[in-house]
Amino acid sequence: MGKEYYTQMEAARKNIITPEMEKVAAKEDRSVEFIRERVAKGTLVIPANPLHKSLDPNGIGSMLKTKINVNLGVSRDCKDYDIEMKKVMSAVNMGAEAIMDLSSHGNTQPFRQKLCRECPAMIGTVPVYDAVIHYQRDLNTLTAKDFIDVVRLHAEDGVDFVTLHCGITRKTIEQIRAGKRKMNLVSRGGSLVFAWMSMTGEENPFYEFYDEILEICREHDVTISLGDACRPGCLADATDQCQIEELVRLGELTQRAWEKDVQVMVEGPGHVPLDQIAANMKVQQTICKGAPFYVLGPLVTDIAPGYDHITAAIGGAVAAMSGAAFLCYVTPAEHLALPNVEDVKQGIIASKIAAHAADIAKGIPHAREQDDRMADARRKLDWEAQWKEAIDSETAKAVRASRAPEDDHSDTCSMCGKFCAVRSINKALAGELIDIL
Ligand code: SF4
Repeated sequence: MGKEYYTQMEAARKNIITPEMEKVAAKEDRSVEFIRERVAKGTLVIPANPLHKSLDPNGIGSMLKTKINVNLGVSRDCKDYDIEMKKVMSAVNMGAEAIMDLSSHGNTQPFRQKLCRECPAMIGTVPVYDAVIHYQRDLNTLTAKDFIDVVRLHAEDGVDFVTLHCGITRKTIEQIRAGKRKMNLVSRGGSLVFAWMSMTGEENPFYEFYDEILEICREHDVTISLGDACRPGCLADATDQCQIEELVRLGELTQRAWEKDVQVMVEGPGHVPLDQIAANMKVQQTICKGAPFYVLGPLVTDIAPGYDHITAAIGGAVAAMSGAAFLCYVTPAEHLALPNVEDVKQGIIASKIAAHAADIAKGIPHAREQDDRMADARRKLDWEAQWKEAIDSETAKAVRASRAPEDDHSDTCSMCGKFCAVRSINKALAGELIDIL
């Protein structure tokens, strides 16, 4: 007897409620029918490869809590699987719902398999990065079949979503060669596909053999994250012809995936001026018929290396408020170096703040309750309760402890000391003497 369904989308379209839909409904405080309807339409995805046994599933869609992704993986500078796995678990504990394994050194399969055995977050990969490492051959010697086989390998290892740069074609080569862009292409995977097409003279294998890829993704319920090879790498390139033409192709590819019940997310910019972000989200939602938008930033200025977790959080908050569903974290080391443990933490916290701020603005159920509890704790000068609500209580506690008030009014902090506005008002309202001197 055949399987009842292969993908969450197929199940939803057959009116079948899956255990994953039930878990997502409970986490989001929505009815399971609300979830099923949107999975069927494609406006909500539940990346959940059945071979990822340790997965605690999450939904991604603009009507749900904004999710964040953290990029990790073994590299030449960090090749210890156990150390990298510790980073993964600490990212999950800090609130990352997805981990993208961008391993780029040695035999990448054991780490990917370890992730799928042990990590409860969604696992994503970029097969084109791995192709060179997996075959240990130069890019120009790889064949289209080699690339497709790596997609299959990742699907069989249990990854929940794969970024595939299907949207660039030979026409993109002409556009980039025409030299109208300041930063050409800045997508790592996109640049590899571009380089392979340039060297071999062939069409993009992820575009040409898309139907074969759909078969693999359908069989293993791997969600396709349609990569944006032409995402702008600087403000000057934002919302240009290259980016929009690729987006139109991604819209077509979204439809083709949906015809085969394959779940799809669409990746988006990049570096974008603040005033263009909302329009970018609207255009994506229109062209890709509401498929969840996964944004890489957007970074709202080009001039803050060392602080790009902040430039991305500003853009991410506006993007998520305007319809993006999934934020890829950016660390302070972006454009500069491989992030260290502290950079990873800063990147995660910045993304969580952006996601939370957007959820409040969008009116996501219960999103503001934590803020309201924090306000109550602040009014009562109840520091223990404040630590409980803080997004990073460890840092909040450490800052207060490092600069504790000098006098015995330990209910205030050293910022205003006895001039503490909260304390003065509390005392005034209680009819008590306000002792400042
Ligand atoms: S001392 Fe100032 S900053 Fe500190 S809790 Fe009171 S009002 Fe707030």
